[in-house]
Amino acid sequence: MFDIQEIRSQFTILNQQVNGKPLVYLDNAATSQKPNSVLEVWNKYYTELNANVHRGIHTLSQLATEEMELSRRKVQKFINAKHDFEVIFTKGTTEGLNLIAYILTQKLKKDDEIIISYLEHHSNIVPWQLLCERTGAKLRVIPIDENGILQLDYLDQYLSEKTKVVSVNQVSNALGIVNPIEEIIAKTRKNSDAYIVIDGAQSAPHFTIDVQKMDCDFFVFSGHKMYAPMGTGILYGKQEILEDLPPFHGGGEMIATCSFDGTTYAGLPFKYEAGTPNVGGNIALGAAIDFIGKVGQSTIQNHENALLEYAQRQLLEIENLKVYGEKANRTGVVSFNLEGTGISSDVGMILDKMGIAVRTGHHCTQPIMDFFNIAGTVRASFAIYNTFEEIDSLVEGVKKAQRMLS
Ligand SMILES: *Cc1c(COP(=O)(O)O)cnc(C)c1O
Repeated sequence: MFDIQEIRSQFTILNQQVNGKPLVYLDNAATSQKPNSVLEVWNKYYTELNANVHRGIHTLSQLATEEMELSRRKVQKFINAKHDFEVIFTKGTTEGLNLIAYILTQKLKKDDEIIISYLEHHSNIVPWQLLCERTGAKLRVIPIDENGILQLDYLDQYLSEKTKVVSVNQVSNALGIVNPIEEIIAKTRKNSDAYIVIDGAQSAPHFTIDVQKMDCDFFVFSGHKMYAPMGTGILYGKQEILEDLPPFHGGGEMIATCSFDGTTYAGLPFKYEAGTPNVGGNIALGAAIDFIGKVGQSTIQNHENALLEYAQRQLLEIENLKVYGEKANRTGVVSFNLEGTGISSDVGMILDKMGIAVRTGHHCTQPIMDFFNIAGTVRASFAIYNTFEEIDSLVEGVKKAQRMLS
């Protein structure tokens, strides 16, 4: 059914040598590669359609607008949003989270509380710290145990009428841990009126997303981690919430009328899309969703889980190798260290010499590293085009690094 060589043939970039060895690309949690179908759509936009959207009467402008709006509806279907105007184009997860934290400013006051978790990316920490500085609100952080699993009894303790925001990721980028967001959302709804924000940067590439079933208020993700170009991303927000909240950036596109006596704002989604958007990228994001649909989300998930299981089993056979979050429910990522043999970047450099691309360091999650009392980890992360042979190369590489470093 699933022909991996056929998939790989759609990714020209994979077919090359790095440092004299076939490229083994295992840094997909940082960014995935893009299939030719996405690059062709991007190229076609700039060679045949390029024009500014929503403002031209001329044909190219109308065609570009239609294509971008078609892409918005593909995203709507992809996450099962109720309305297409609940889908806002952004440049990525970071922008989405900052936007939400900014527009919530008026809703928070001194001593209100924002709950996040220990497993968050810096982009789901710092915007909330900034919001706390603006409003005098306080940040509370759900701790983890030695397997990296969230300790939800703390959430029970923290939730109160003071809680105004709960923001957690569905999947941790550093460890690949899948968080029980259904339970987190249910507890939050039951015990507070908080806005619920889900960082889906690492779940949208791997899972079927249903924002209505999930019942979150906001869901954000990046296009570039799911086969789309960089500089693309999505902010989903519930209609009544986005209508109630103020705009973020002011400028073109987001106004209904503008005068020096006062300006009125456009309706959704344009209220949150000031300025010229990344039209080519947004259209190509639709092509990436088509790619995922064609391969099949369950095929992607099953393959990536099989790779993870295969990688973890072999890596754990290496002596003095520790996998972080070993016993947690995970997807797409194995994060590890060779204990007693130097730092993660040394391992990463040796792997690079063998053509193997992994991420090393703190993965924009310093609190997790502090918790485990380490500077960083070696992180291998998977996509649909990775093979079991590539995992074998990784394991060989890690063994070699261990020999060289000890
Ligand atoms: C990558 C990532 C982000 C930030 O995404 P950008 O594309 O860099 O804006 C936020 N959260 C998680 C979980 C991520 O993996």
